[in-house]
This record gives sequence, structure tokens and C-alpha cells, in this order.
Amino acid sequence: MGDSVKRLAVLGSTGSIGRQTLQVVRRLSSRFRVVALTAGRNSALLAEQITEFRPRYAHCTAEDAGRFAAGGPKVLSPEEIASHDDVDCVVIAVSGNAALAATLAAVRAGKEVALANKEALVMAGELITGEAKRSGARILPIDSEHSAIWQCLVGEPQSASARIILTASGGPFRGYSPEQLAAVTATEALAHPSWRMGPKVTIDSATLMNKGLEVIEARWLFDMPFDRIEVVIHPQSVIHSMVEFADGSVKAQLSSPDMRLPIQY
Ligand code: NDP
Ligand code: MG
Repeated sequence: MGDSVKRLAVLGSTGSIGRQTLQVVRRLSSRFRVVALTAGRNSALLAEQITEFRPRYAHCTAEDAGRFAAGGPKVLSPEEIASHDDVDCVVIAVSGNAALAATLAAVRAGKEVALANKEALVMAGELITGEAKRSGARILPIDSEHSAIWQCLVGEPQSASARIILTASGGPFRGYSPEQLAAVTATEALAHPSWRMGPKVTIDSATLMNKGLEVIEARWLFDMPFDRIEVVIHPQSVIHSMVEFADGSVKAQLSSPDMRLPIQY
């Protein structure tokens, strides 16, 4: 695309990743134009974002949201937005299984797909990556571990990588005994030591289920068999993941834990 302006659709713009994506866009406003925004229930924040970014298209799942104000954006479904000719890059920042249909629509339309959502790849990784191969869509991972792996693989042939090593902070209950774990509360699980994230991924991090989902996500994003994907606990959350190469050398990507970095990359 060179120096031209990239036209973005941000699906799930009212969430943790969606809001941070808009922060990145504010700082790089000469390079991005927000042409579409979608939300679930937070119609108030979506309305503020529409006032600021003036997208052409929007969608709000909330029952009471109705149409947008006169002169405001046209209502299209997330799938229509994800495959629209006016969109170059689709940021998938919707949580859970609600992201699947729009992710597939974006991939089938050959878009650049900046994918934060991991559940879609866990549910349908073979289908999504197969459709991407057919259409030429590029899937750019936003999940910090997968962005790190992607960055480690720049300039490396597929055949050179021997292993992916995903890092995990261990979450708020690292080192707890089974007795202590039996007494933990949702409030404690929502207090993640290194990352501020939406509720589902935070709970999944506390149970370590998130890392299981991320192993499956890596398997599809990097076409790597499960027996060559490992997980290590790294409580500092500075190394975001590593790749070991055939010659035994290891590349790692390091930064402070701030999702705006992988989003911007
Ligand atoms: P949030 O819960 O903060 O935000 C989710 C977004 O999706 C909101 O905009 C929400 O709308 C929207 N949404 C949820 N359900 C629906 C639905 N049924 N229909 C339409 N819109 C819906 O989640 P996060 O930003 O934390 O996470 C988004 C994705 O990114 C997840 O898959 C997560 O695993 C992944 N991820 C997140 C990271 C993080 O740091 N937050 C890190 C790595 C990956 P509304 O709020 O308006 O209801
Ligand atoms: Mg992650």
C-alpha cells in the first residue's frame, strides 16, 4: 500500500483491544482512516467513537440501539462490513465465538485481517487458514505471543523454524496449592498481574485455559504441528514468545506488556 491511507474496519471497537486500536489510530491518523465500527452492547461508547471517527458504516448488536442519527453511518452487518470494498484491513477485536462469521467473511473477501480474537481460530482454524490460502487474505496476529512469533519469523524460511515457545505469565494464581485454588474468587481472577484485558480473556488467563487456546491458535497461524509448540512460564511478561531454529539458536521478542505494540505492528 506504500504511503497511502489504510481503510480500517474495527469490529468490537468498544472493547479493550478495540479501544486500544483506536488509540493507535489517533497517533497515526495520517496513515489510517476508520471506515467502520461495530459494538455489542455499549451503544454509548460506540456513539462517542462515531462522533470522533465519522465512519461510513457501523453496527451495534444492542436491541435498543436502532438506527444511527441522521447523517450518521449506514447500518451494515459485521459480515457485510468485513467484506466491503471500502475496507482494506479488518481488525477483529470481538471476543468469543461472535467473531467467527465476520472473520470468515473478511478472509473470504481477501482482506488484510488483523486478528486479536483467538476463539475463531480455535473453532475453525483449518477452515479459516484454508480460505485465506484460496483468497490470498493475510492474517496478521494481534495476540501478543503470536505477534512475537510472527516478528521472530520475519526473514526466516518456514523450514528453518524447529519449535515455537509460547510464554505464559502464570496468571494471578501461579504457585497456589490445590487448597488455595479451591477458595479463589472471580474478583481475584480478574486481577491479572501483568495485563489489563477484557473479562473473558482475563478469566481464561487465570485458569491457564488461555494458553491452551493460544497453542491451537499458533498451530493454525504458523502451520506448526502441536508437538513442536511448547509453553514456558515467564511471570515478568517481558519476553512475549520465542522461536527456536534448526541450528539451535533462539529468537525472542521483548517489550513492556502493552497491547498497543502488537496492535501497531
Ligand atoms: P472485551 O470484552 O474487552 O471486548 C469485546 C468486544 O467485542 C466489545 O467491543 C464487545 O462489545 C464486542 N462483543 C462481544 N460479544 C459480542 C457479540 N455477541 N456481538 C457483537 N459484539 C460483541 O474483549 P477484549 O478486547 O479483551 O478481547 C477481544 C479479543 O481479543 C478476544 O478474543 C481476546 O481473547 C483477544 N485478546 C485480547 C487481549 C487483550 O489484551 N484484551 C490480548 C490478546 C487477545 P460491547 O462491549 O459493546 O458489548
Ligand atoms: Mg496472548
